[in-house]
Amino acid sequence: MQSSTTLSPLYRGRFAPSPTGPLHFGSLVAAVGSYLDAKHHGGEWLIRIEDIDTPRTIPGAADAILHALEALGMEWQGSVVYQSQRTAIYQDALHRLQQLGFVYPCTCTRKEIADSSIAGISGPIYPGTCRHKSTAKDKTHALRIKASEMFIQFQDSVMGSYQQQLARDIGDFVIRRADGIYAYQLAVVVDDAVQGITHVVRGADLLDSTPRQIFLQQLLGYPSPHYLHLPVVTNAAGEKLSKQTNAAAIDLSSALPQLVAAVRFLGQEPPNEILDGDIAAFWSWAIPNWNISSIPR
Ligand code: GLU
Ligand code: ZN
Repeated sequence: MQSSTTLSPLYRGRFAPSPTGPLHFGSLVAAVGSYLDAKHHGGEWLIRIEDIDTPRTIPGAADAILHALEALGMEWQGSVVYQSQRTAIYQDALHRLQQLGFVYPCTCTRKEIADSSIAGISGPIYPGTCRHKSTAKDKTHALRIKASEMFIQFQDSVMGSYQQQLARDIGDFVIRRADGIYAYQLAVVVDDAVQGITHVVRGADLLDSTPRQIFLQQLLGYPSPHYLHLPVVTNAAGEKLSKQTNAAAIDLSSALPQLVAAVRFLGQEPPNEILDGDIAAFWSWAIPNWNISSIPR
């Protein structure tokens, strides 16, 4: 057996829900996938409440999510982190990006951008209107980061090789919104680094965000975690289950069947008798039997 030369964890994962509603089947799948991958590797599993977009945060939703995770027998390490309490560290990162000369103010309206841009992988590609303009500092503005011309490539543990050329596929993207709120892309990168996350397991709706995050990690001198993107749960209309599509909250009176359905969605094959046992027995089966090569892609 090899001896370890460092005290840093070999595996630290996380579940990072946005408290815009209760835990539903789609977010349960992300929670279960990240939990099983961490536990299967003997790792830690942390919870971060991504409540940075305060206008979208629903009072009570974070507590409801945490309560549901407890009822489902999912234990996390350490205290829960709330993005709304961490703006100082996002501000530090922003200053460093500004010192590198990668950030510029943008005063364009949504309509101006829609009228003058072409469609990219993740919405309109900003045409760079404000890149070389000197914007009056007091005018309300978003902050954008100049996208890289280089290819950003990574190997996803489930989805395989994925690459983007940010300048062509995404464009200069917002890291602080005009309302002063730090963008998800910046906050998630800072938090994953500060929390020492080694493995990110989340829904494939965020696959196309990953190159932006790797780009920011590179600029800020952070290591990149391993990425594993899980298939996304959709409703009959093919829409991702979410608060916006009125996904129903997990019914905690039938917690075990929901867990079984979540691992089956992820291609795992628990025996039917697992439903005769309890939640502890479910995890005792699911953790050692977690197999990422069975996850549908
Ligand atoms: N907060 C994001 C969501 O609920 C997840 C972010 C992440 O896992 O990177 O969709
Ligand atoms: Zn602009």
